[in-house]
Amino acid sequence: MTELAFEDVQVRYGTHRSGLTAVDGVDLRVPSGSVVGLVGESGSGKSTLARAAVGLAPVTGGRVLLDGTDVRRLPRGRRPIQLVFQDPYSSLDPRMTVGESIAEALPREVFRRRPARRGEVARLLELVGLDAGRSGVLPGELSGGQRQRIALARALAARPEVVIADEITSALDVSVQGSVLNLVRELQRELGLTMLFISHNLAVVRYVSDYVAVLYLGRIVEMGPAERLLADPQHPYTRELVDAAPSAHRSLLAAPDSPVADAEPGDPHRPPAGCRFHPRCPVGPLVDPRRSICTTVDPATVAPSREHRAACHFAAAVEHTDSPVPNSVVRTGFPGARGDTLE
Ligand code: ADP
Ligand code: MG
Repeated sequence: MTELAFEDVQVRYGTHRSGLTAVDGVDLRVPSGSVVGLVGESGSGKSTLARAAVGLAPVTGGRVLLDGTDVRRLPRGRRPIQLVFQDPYSSLDPRMTVGESIAEALPREVFRRRPARRGEVARLLELVGLDAGRSGVLPGELSGGQRQRIALARALAARPEVVIADEITSALDVSVQGSVLNLVRELQRELGLTMLFISHNLAVVRYVSDYVAVLYLGRIVEMGPAERLLADPQHPYTRELVDAAPSAHRSLLAAPDSPVADAEPGDPHRPPAGCRFHPRCPVGPLVDPRRSICTTVDPATVAPSREHRAACHFAAAVEHTDSPVPNSVVRTGFPGARGDTLE
């Protein structure tokens, strides 16, 4: 069992002048054996964070830790974190049979001989709900959902301690999304995997997650136990996402786009001063000019330190008061601060 932790992680692309900071000071802990769902609109930095964990994006600040060890210091050849992408075509070679693709990912030192490899491929195929006899087919002969199952089998073949799933159901027909999500949940429980589950769709995230973190313009704006966060969202951005997402009982298909998501998205090249969400915030200075603190003071530095926490000057006041005095004045701490526990 392994814990994945992002500690003040920053990812900057490009040069000083033309670059952008896609992930900016993210503190996020994925406790051992649990699923943290990461949600946020397109361009908020979700994939960048995932890629940073496996060395595919430059970590320009902070650290990514596996059970306290910086992932950059892990022994070469060890791949304890496996990333599964939205498009299985990018991880599956179209010319290799699916059995070969899975076998390629098996640790050589464990499966030296061919029969052992073949047996393990069959076991993995069955684990992801496919007939072991299909190992000889090419990815192109399979449906999107089946290909995503193969991508999962291939990721699991490497015997990962942590799986990061980045929009793995987003390209699938809604009719098969549910079955892939069920599979993810089953596998995670059965294998006790530590999982970071990424989607722009809150309805999808809520289905599999123990904890939910909300990313906005490269920053975590709210984080907490899934049920509590969804039942009582504190950050105005999260509230908009929750209001727009269908309830657990309705179809994932019914998810209307969030009114916030419809608005002009923030530009990571020029993140707004103060709270990055303030130019779109339905309770901020746009609607109450007295709340000018939002335009100057970054709430991440003054928000409460709690299990369920939000980086908003007016988090708990969103619904109940029209006070111009920020809640943060009476509290101290930092959301996601190091050493905070989720339990
Ligand atoms: P998400 O997965 O939430 O949609 P991304 O992590 O893909 O967001 O992108 C975050 C921001 O970083 C976007 O503005 C995107 O254009 C930019 N970005 C992503 N990858 C690169 C890259 N390799 N070089 C430069 N900018 C990038
Ligand atoms: Mg992405």
